[in-house]
Amino acid sequence: MRPEILFPLFAPATSLSGVGPRFAALFEGLVGGPAVIDLCWHLPSGIIDRRYGPPLAEVQPGRIATLTVQVGEHRAPPNRRQPYRVFCHDDSGELELVFFHAHRDYLTKVLPTGQTRLVSGKVEVFNDRLQMTHPDHIAEPAEAERVKAVEPVYPLTAGLSLKVVSKAVHAALERLPTLPDWLDPAQRQREAWPAWDGALRQAHAPRDEADLSPLSLPRRRLAYDELLANQLAIALVRDRQQRQKGRSLKGSGHLQQRVLDSLPFALTGSQRNAVAEITADMAAPHRMLRLLQGDVGSGKTVVALLAMLAAVESGSQAALMAPTEILARQHHQTIAPLAESAGVKLTILTGRDKGKARQALLAGLAEGTTDIVVGTHALFQDDVAFRDLAMAVIDEQHRFGVHQRLTLTGKGQAVDVLVMTATPIPRTLMLTAYGDMDSSRLTERPPGRQPIETVALSLDRLPQVIAAVERALAKGAQVYWICPLVEESEHSDLAAAEARYGALAEHFGAQVGLVHGRMKAAEKDAVMERFAAGDLGVLVATTVVEVGVDVPKATVMVIEHAERFGLAQLHQLRGRVGRGAGKSTCLLLWQGPLGETARARLKILRETDDGFRIAEEDLRLRGAGELLGTRQSGLPAFRLADLALHGDLLATARDDARLILDKDPELSGERGQALRILLYLFERDAAVRYLRSG
Ligand code: ADP
Ligand code: MG
Repeated sequence: MRPEILFPLFAPATSLSGVGPRFAALFEGLVGGPAVIDLCWHLPSGIIDRRYGPPLAEVQPGRIATLTVQVGEHRAPPNRRQPYRVFCHDDSGELELVFFHAHRDYLTKVLPTGQTRLVSGKVEVFNDRLQMTHPDHIAEPAEAERVKAVEPVYPLTAGLSLKVVSKAVHAALERLPTLPDWLDPAQRQREAWPAWDGALRQAHAPRDEADLSPLSLPRRRLAYDELLANQLAIALVRDRQQRQKGRSLKGSGHLQQRVLDSLPFALTGSQRNAVAEITADMAAPHRMLRLLQGDVGSGKTVVALLAMLAAVESGSQAALMAPTEILARQHHQTIAPLAESAGVKLTILTGRDKGKARQALLAGLAEGTTDIVVGTHALFQDDVAFRDLAMAVIDEQHRFGVHQRLTLTGKGQAVDVLVMTATPIPRTLMLTAYGDMDSSRLTERPPGRQPIETVALSLDRLPQVIAAVERALAKGAQVYWICPLVEESEHSDLAAAEARYGALAEHFGAQVGLVHGRMKAAEKDAVMERFAAGDLGVLVATTVVEVGVDVPKATVMVIEHAERFGLAQLHQLRGRVGRGAGKSTCLLLWQGPLGETARARLKILRETDDGFRIAEEDLRLRGAGELLGTRQSGLPAFRLADLALHGDLLATARDDARLILDKDPELSGERGQALRILLYLFERDAAVRYLRSG
């Protein structure tokens, strides 16, 4: 239950005076939240300095100024096209106020002739006369202090003006309660951080540009609060998970040895390390939840197989789940000969299996005659049962939700889980999503791979690119041609891909195929299979080929409008080639003018093919929010923290969370109670439920 002290902050924004349902809806669209607290978290992105207020004779045109003037004559226009004017002056000069579509009654009320008023806005010179069009503020002299200030500017959206947003935020800040501080007093003092409510008020009252920086003291404190809530919540969930007993899967190593003996290659050092880490983790009595990270082509499959064999050696079963049919088949093909040489019974189960054949497969799993199953979502179905599932490998985790992962592990007892991903996750992001989740990294590449030559070319040189493709095809190579990502809609994405497909098919004939996200899975698989079989020379695709399809003869990757793709995505796409012995090329076609970030991305890609380095650079260039597409990936989005800038705070928050829970695991002490409020403040309610007296 949310503590009462926070109720005012979690009331709907419409409970504030001046905030109606229309505003609330627009604001929710802007920031994603409808409560008073969401207004508080909406920090300014700029400032308007209204402190400048010289005598009229000294005003510099073009500046924002707050001028103290005597109001003179009002002059209503003869028609609606002309503006309404109010003539003002001070001892040194004159100023004309200009209003289009004016409301006369209103203006005579706020600008009474003969009175002194403050007007604030941009001053311009027109026909040698000083004027101000539609002042932002008109006020009485007594209000000088309020008006002649630095005004925060907030991010806005169509239909929301700065004035209404400022007013609403102001009203929200009036509601700020004084909360018991959850920070360690020594740390607060060391960092010179203000109290929480003070920090929030200061963040909304910037006096200069420096105050807008995420590195300013109040903003750092707020970012830290958010990161601490995140790390504390993760630590609570992890503690709970680790209290779940797992089973100790101790393999004899004899099946692993047989597979190693039959492999046509030796494992790389990082593969050996990963296998050792995973098997040690499986042998430990707790439940394993481990990430296996490695670039495309780094050899994750064989590592996964060796890990699964450890489960089989100890007398139980293992499952490997892939996000698509074609990937499941590919894994199966790779693993099948190895499993056979070890005398291990392997099957594959996908949505295509129906009727009697499927019944037989299910029986094998239920009776335990099948040791390892490779499959797709089909493995989740209710009638899939195992004799004793002890280990699950999940490939490309971003395609599966946490819920699905639980469904699979629910089919066994205390199932050890290994999640494989080819999208290296920067350490900072790992921390925010999983805390200290165990992870094994394949940082080496199998030997004998030729590096991929990466070239960036202007799209103007398309004819040369087509000629290069023609030469490659003549030598028997295959070509991927990735079409631009168009942001507005999936529809225009498709139109672009279809247009390119048409043009290439005209040039190269029937050997060109097309896959895109709108096709049915079976249609897509059929085209991919024709490409994999070598029936197609050129595969035009939207980004659906992103996930690990393996076509060794494909040695050319063309990416059109490379400037529109993210760094990690470009790296993934490039990884589709360079899988065989042939020399591979990646052509990044860009269209200018290139922004600084796009330029930096293309440069990094030419410099390195180390996925871990690319992931870190991506984080630096883009900020965490955008990275991986927060929504699909299940990574948390932060409101106040920016991982690219607050990385140091994240590390501290992780350590602090650990220390806090070591000392007070149930958060029951005085500081513990304050920390519970922090968790609720950042809506980590679920984590609080893990506490005994939550
Ligand atoms: P990933 O799943 O990490 O993208 P794969 O497991 O599909 O990579 O491996 C890519 C290719 O490299 C496969 O053909 C595999 O047989 C081969 N491979 C794996 N490990 C090695 C190694 N140590 N030496 C040589 N080739 C390897
Ligand atoms: Mg793979």
